[in-house]
Amino acid sequence: MTINLLNYDSKGLVDFFTGFGEKPFRAKQLLRWIHQYSTADFNAMSDLAKGLREKLAVLAVIELPQIISADVATDGTRKWLLAVGAGNGIETVFIPEANRGTLCVSSQVGCALACTFCSTGRQGFNRNLTVAEIIGQLWIANKTLRSDVSDNTPLHSNRAVTNVVMMGMGEPLANFDNVITALDLMLDDHAYGLSRRRVTVSTSGLVPAIDRLRERCPVALAISLHAPNDALRDQLVPINKKYPIKELLAACQRYLLAAPRDFITFEYVMLEGVNDSVAHARELIELVQDTPCKFNLIPFNTFPGSGFKRSAAESVRIFRDVLMQAGLVTTVRKTRGDDIAAACGQLAGQVKDKTRRTAGVRIEAAQ
Ligand code: SAH
Ligand code: SF4
Repeated sequence: MTINLLNYDSKGLVDFFTGFGEKPFRAKQLLRWIHQYSTADFNAMSDLAKGLREKLAVLAVIELPQIISADVATDGTRKWLLAVGAGNGIETVFIPEANRGTLCVSSQVGCALACTFCSTGRQGFNRNLTVAEIIGQLWIANKTLRSDVSDNTPLHSNRAVTNVVMMGMGEPLANFDNVITALDLMLDDHAYGLSRRRVTVSTSGLVPAIDRLRERCPVALAISLHAPNDALRDQLVPINKKYPIKELLAACQRYLLAAPRDFITFEYVMLEGVNDSVAHARELIELVQDTPCKFNLIPFNTFPGSGFKRSAAESVRIFRDVLMQAGLVTTVRKTRGDDIAAACGQLAGQVKDKTRRTAGVRIEAAQ
């Protein structure tokens, strides 16, 4: 099988080059070509000797996921649908803001953790993404953002990716090794050179993997909390039965010792009549009193058959105020990219439909 060099971080590339008698520094050259100059063509790599380029072309490829569609919303949010084989698609979303550009990256096709309010979870688990498929999302976004300078794109939509959040489809810590290698590339100065505080892993709470992340690559951490007690969290985030809140908060405390920021972000999806009362907010304050944290309230994004409703704007405001009055920094996530269905939790349903409707033929033809 031909080797896809997009699957390798610096260490992997050093092993690859030394494996056929080349110098280790070739790894750095190749990383820069691939990730900084967005080159997938060995021929264009002018500081590699011609003989080496020819050898690389025989031994290896640089293969990106195939783009099925790329949309730009009126607010500048962009969404790519990428083919990952067998008629499946994953999505990547770019959210431009005044002072940063955030890329929301997927880590799995589907998800096994089955949170009840999440359409990816409802889809079931298909497979882990490869490193090439994870880092390929950043590669594609960067290349597009650098090259698309057309005048009719909204303000800021062409700024480069400054932040990455692993908040697309899938549970990143359930695809640990591939996610770590992709994180290595995001942080590597010869690849994307992002600082650890600008890369966030979001997890539903796989406690042992949180500890491993701390040891291996402590980037910023977001925890999908969603409930102030185990009885409710067991229902919304079933993995809570295995790793209950007390253990999760203890893992957060350990993580903070190595984290690039001095707080953990708690995500909290606002579900009408389920977890959005003032009593829930008070219970939450009690729960996190010893954990340095910030809250990000996410208005629920509905999908067909979800069985949940988005909390009223007024309930979200009151909930936020109660947390703020207790001294907890709390933001409410803005819904972006409405016209291209790019919000959290909306990704999976659309993928399946779209894959079947508009891209099925092309995907099948490419296999
Ligand atoms: N699996 C990881 C990361 C991906 S989900 C995790 O669960 O943290 C990113 C965020 O979107 C999580 O906080 C998740 O709970 C939230 N989410 C999932 N479905 C949603 C929906 N329908 N509306 C709003 N947020 C949702
Ligand atoms: Fe998986 Fe995260 Fe969705 Fe839960 S919220 S099912 S962990 S992707």
